[in-house]
Amino acid sequence: MRDPALDAVMEALKTVNDPELHRDLVSLGMIERAEVSGGVAAVKVNLTTPACPLKGKIEGDVREAVMAVPGITDVVVTFGAMVRAPSQPALPGVKHVLLVGSGKGGVGKSSVAVNIAAALARDGAKVGLLDADVYGPSVAHMMGQGAAKVTANAERKMQPIEAHGVRFISMANLSPAGQALVWRGPMLHSAVQQFLKDAAWGDLDYLIVDLPPGTGDVQLSLTQTVQVTGAVIVTTPQDVALIDAARAIDMFRKASVPVLGIVENMSYFVAPDTGLTYDLFGRGGSRKLGAEHLLLGEVPIDMEVRKDSDAGVPAVLAHPDSVASAALTQIARNLAGQVSVRSMAQSLQQSLADLPDQLTVV
Ligand code: ADP
Repeated sequence: MRDPALDAVMEALKTVNDPELHRDLVSLGMIERAEVSGGVAAVKVNLTTPACPLKGKIEGDVREAVMAVPGITDVVVTFGAMVRAPSQPALPGVKHVLLVGSGKGGVGKSSVAVNIAAALARDGAKVGLLDADVYGPSVAHMMGQGAAKVTANAERKMQPIEAHGVRFISMANLSPAGQALVWRGPMLHSAVQQFLKDAAWGDLDYLIVDLPPGTGDVQLSLTQTVQVTGAVIVTTPQDVALIDAARAIDMFRKASVPVLGIVENMSYFVAPDTGLTYDLFGRGGSRKLGAEHLLLGEVPIDMEVRKDSDAGVPAVLAHPDSVASAALTQIARNLAGQVSVRSMAQSLQQSLADLPDQLTVV
């Protein structure tokens, strides 16, 4: 026999919308379990990413709706998460390939890529990081593994190195330290292909790819080699950087890679001695890239970010409470949120194609 209290709780949950998908948690299949015992409701919500940026809001909304059910005296909300794969997964076992690009070098693209990867892994996602910045590979050093060497496994596939909960491969772990790469386009193309396809990445929710700066061969070959979920553009806020960032955005548009958002790095600086804020490069300048591009976050200039990357520990792990790390963590979650929205919208539009109210794809 059905429990009327449970039915009432389920009805209440049908009034709670996912804040990004604008559909209720029940019809989205996000209620993994609901039970009522002695007036206490236990609800388990299955999120679309462990790095959900709206977890707190969903928890509050579930609590409020269920507490309004007569006879319910308390609500225990727990969370699970499963990243949904797109209809066409990027690589076997890899759900989403996310590119991190920039218009020019030195804007902090690699630092952002490393910190996004570490933050997503800390939230519980399975994360890989591919250093495709073949001319200036810095990921290995930033991950504290500059001297490590990539080995081949029994199937003769490259075995990614693991550090800070992230599996990664960098050219720096293949070539002798300090040696410059003098490869031409076709060789780079095959190197990137091998990194993607001949590495034992295993099961990954997100494979973050640190691209070389600018708009060249590697970027193009990547977008042609695998199904990419989207790209993130890192820029600093001054005009000279924004001009190049716009060029990178245009390249992705031409390659049909969705730009999931912009990261404004070195956005501002707070003097540690006086607490005064300085907008050294013109904070907020990345909004000039157009309102259609979501600003995933603004990261201040912070000496710890530089020191941590030199020391081989991502700032989000070494100094999780700093303003810069909080911004980087939020950027990683906003990105994961964008990926979820897109995959859910894609699958909903496919399975519920005949329903009148279409989802807005951000
Ligand atoms: P890119 O990949 O764009 O060439 P990097 O990530 O290598 O840039 O960063 C260039 C330098 O700037 C590195 O020394 C890095 O530690 C430093 N850096 C990056 N972001 C910040 C920041 N927000 N605050 C302070 N230093 C930063």
